[in-house]
Amino acid sequence: MAGKLAYTSKINKIRSFALILIFVGFAVMYGGILAKKIEWLMLALFLLGLMFILLSCVIYLWIGMLSTRAVPIVCPSCEKRTKMLGRVDACMHCKQPLTLDKDLEGKIFDERYNNRKFRRQAKADNEE
Ligand SMILES: [Zn+2]
Repeated sequence: MAGKLAYTSKINKIRSFALILIFVGFAVMYGGILAKKIEWLMLALFLLGLMFILLSCVIYLWIGMLSTRAVPIVCPSCEKRTKMLGRVDACMHCKQPLTLDKDLEGKIFDERYNNRKFRRQAKADNEE
């Protein structure tokens, strides 16, 4: 993972995380089926798997809420509709880095710009 960083849209990132959680949940529950001879283990694995799946549902709900707060824009690069979360995000389709902050336009894309403290620091560095 070191070296080249790929920027994915935050919503996509969270969505794939939720999807992975569902798979993990099913894998754990499948483990429960395999362990059916040991009753407590089977129950524990089933409950654990259920928890992963429930957590993933909660994340999906959360994405839904985030999507309503996200700013819909048309990507300047691929001209598709995308949604932005925070000041700095990437296009969902072409991964083009996007910013809502005019101060950051043309700057090297850095997800840390979503952090207020980092932004202030960067601004202070510019004024020097
Ligand atoms: Zn795009």
